[in-house]
Amino acid sequence: MGAYYCSICRQTTFSGKSHIFGKSHQSRLRVVLLKFLEKVKEARRTLKKPQVEKFDCSQHKQTFWCYCCDLEVEKHVTDGNMTVLHGGLLEHMATQEHRKSAHKFWWENKADPKLRDKVIITEDETQRFKTEVEKVLETFVEKEDDFIKQEADFIRTQEKYRQEVLQSLIEVCFPRMQ
Ligand SMILES: [Zn+2]
Ligand SMILES: [Zn+2]
Repeated sequence: MGAYYCSICRQTTFSGKSHIFGKSHQSRLRVVLLKFLEKVKEARRTLKKPQVEKFDCSQHKQTFWCYCCDLEVEKHVTDGNMTVLHGGLLEHMATQEHRKSAHKFWWENKADPKLRDKVIITEDETQRFKTEVEKVLETFVEKEDDFIKQEADFIRTQEKYRQEVLQSLIEVCFPRMQ
């Protein structure tokens, strides 16, 4: 026995490891896992249908706390231009380190084993996600291209219009100069 810092309860206890079996720890653990699994669930939803958005620094710089690894991780991935929502979380949960920590965390906290695999992303899932992200990115780039073309057309039309207005203005104001 001895001082034991519990990151779930955020306190030091002196009952050593037996603290983990206590009521307060187990109920606190349930709350933590519930919130944690909710975030993972949200991310998992994008596995088959990745969400790609134009980078927005006010929205896409979020982090999440991985209780298994005791680590703050980027929630999304971005290249500063586009963002794959939840990409950071999914990427983290696919790493070997995370898998190991998840097993350790579940064992140490005597958490419900049925829930453990929910926080681990398999290699198959990662591969499929990557393929889907590529597809989405391709259509995204096409859409972007279209948008730029439309913008260019609009600017050209605007420019032509401006020229015409200017021309008629000149004709009206300075008829003798024509
Ligand atoms: Zn505790
Ligand atoms: Zn982790």
